[in-house]
Amino acid sequence: MICKFCGKPASIYIRYANIALCREHFIQFFEKRVKRTIERFKMISPGEKIGVAVSGGKDSLTLLHVLYSLSKLMDLKLIGFTINLGIRKYSEECVKIALENFRKLKLEYRIINLRDYGFTIDDIVQYKISKRVCGICGTVKRYILNKVAREENVDRLATGHNLDDFLQVILQGYIHGDLKYLSKYFPVTPSRNKLISRIKPLVFTPEEEIKKYTVIKGINYCMKKCPYSFQASSHTLKKAILLIEENHPGIRFSMFNTYIKKIYPLINAKYSEELELSECSRCGEPSGKNICLFCRVKTRIKSIKSGTIIN
Ligand code: SF4
Ligand code: ZN
Ligand code: ZN
Repeated sequence: MICKFCGKPASIYIRYANIALCREHFIQFFEKRVKRTIERFKMISPGEKIGVAVSGGKDSLTLLHVLYSLSKLMDLKLIGFTINLGIRKYSEECVKIALENFRKLKLEYRIINLRDYGFTIDDIVQYKISKRVCGICGTVKRYILNKVAREENVDRLATGHNLDDFLQVILQGYIHGDLKYLSKYFPVTPSRNKLISRIKPLVFTPEEEIKKYTVIKGINYCMKKCPYSFQASSHTLKKAILLIEENHPGIRFSMFNTYIKKIYPLINAKYSEELELSECSRCGEPSGKNICLFCRVKTRIKSIKSGTIIN
């Protein structure tokens, strides 16, 4: 196969578009689509400071490298955020690789240690705080990233969710009928109260192309799997999405566009008024409840550790 644009040997065949591309033209194709996604959803205005949430995995590091490539053209200032979640045989490696990438790109960054807040994700498992470790972990990450983004005067917080991640969440929302959750689920959410605007620039990028991008660009990412990842229900749904894609190339883009153009506006109009956020009475961070989940988890672990509560 040869590249559609230059006739050099192709490095990738993109089935849904029926094109083959060399390394150089694939990078151009990939980064252009991210730029178009940012423009389509008005994710970033020139001159803004973007906090990039970097876990050390392939998606978040790809996001960091693409935004870095686009930063001059789009006039962006970047700062990387990485949380050490305290997961044994996993977190240290991820943080180390994130750090290597920040240094390589000479970017400003902050590493946040969850242990400094008094607990780790391993504690949640050890003290049986919840069976839904990933659910709590997600809350912890959102809480810390939002707090740190505010402290660093960031305009937007960017995360590495790709097209497959996005569709999987939509599908999960349909299955459970969780329309309230979906009414907030969009590639960009505006800032409100103390919540910093969140953006997902890779939301129109299929996962397999992210893998290819890391290989071609030589991006080193954490290959280790989180020991709790077997708990995530996302795998089966993602496999189902890929199976449909195999039989109907390009259907992921149609699913995405149908949601954005037809479904999301209806759900958002119905539920947007019910989404008032108040502040946690303990920490002052945005919360739908009097005491936020982060504070409740932290207090419970502290009590167990100090022997005030026996688990
Ligand atoms: Fe957290 Fe679950 Fe991801 Fe592990 S797999 S980092 S526990 S969300
Ligand atoms: Zn080419
Ligand atoms: Zn709180």
